[in-house]
Amino acid sequence: MELVARRCTKCGETKVVGEFYECRRSQCKTCVSQAGKEYHQDHREENNARSNAYREVHPEEVRVYMRAYREAHSEEAKARVKAWRAVHPEAEKARKKAYREAHFEEVKAHVKSYRAAHPEKVRVYNRVYREAHPEKVRARNTAYRETHLEKVKARAKAYRQSHRACKSAWQAGRRIAQQHRTLSASPKEIEAFYTEAERITKETGVKYSVDHVVPLQGKLVSGLHVPWNLRVIPLIDNIKKGNYFHDSEGSAPIAQGE
Ligand SMILES: [Zn+2]
Repeated sequence: MELVARRCTKCGETKVVGEFYECRRSQCKTCVSQAGKEYHQDHREENNARSNAYREVHPEEVRVYMRAYREAHSEEAKARVKAWRAVHPEAEKARKKAYREAHFEEVKAHVKSYRAAHPEKVRVYNRVYREAHPEKVRARNTAYRETHLEKVKARAKAYRQSHRACKSAWQAGRRIAQQHRTLSASPKEIEAFYTEAERITKETGVKYSVDHVVPLQGKLVSGLHVPWNLRVIPLIDNIKKGNYFHDSEGSAPIAQGE
């Protein structure tokens, strides 16, 4: 009958047969491995010297061997590198920094192509960053304005101009609309409203203006620049009215244009 357990001659413990090597039956695996370590420790220098001597004589073979080893254990090596980096974050940071500095153009090009390929990711990343670091973003914007004063000024000017152009286009449109809506028969009668407004202004010291009862450029309805659509009212009322149009007497105003 075969034994299922055996006593190790080194440590004296009784262990199942699985704890022993087939070829070395007297000592348990733990003791054999411990002995190997001790042997290696004791003969360290000797072993290293022998390895070095071999390497010097057979450099190409060693290189081939090393490459094969790395390829066979690449996952392990990667895991080991990763673990090392995790416990040495400062060294890792310094290494990355040194790499970026040594490969500045390459890194820049890489980042640029990544951004071009993943615009949505970049947008999300930027938004998250802005929300997480509002102070940093503000400081950076301030610094940018200070160092790019001319650029910022030029951009603000361009913005003002484009909006001014927009505004004057609206005014020009209004003028043309007014011209189109003036019927040939009534220029004198129309002028009379403006004269009247000036007269009341002078008399009372309160500014009066000519109002189009139905606005010229309302969104729902457009009035005419004709005497029966005109009246003289205080300027302030005209401003308040804006382009509101009362669809019938006493009802609520309907929002019209600007
Ligand atoms: Zn043992």
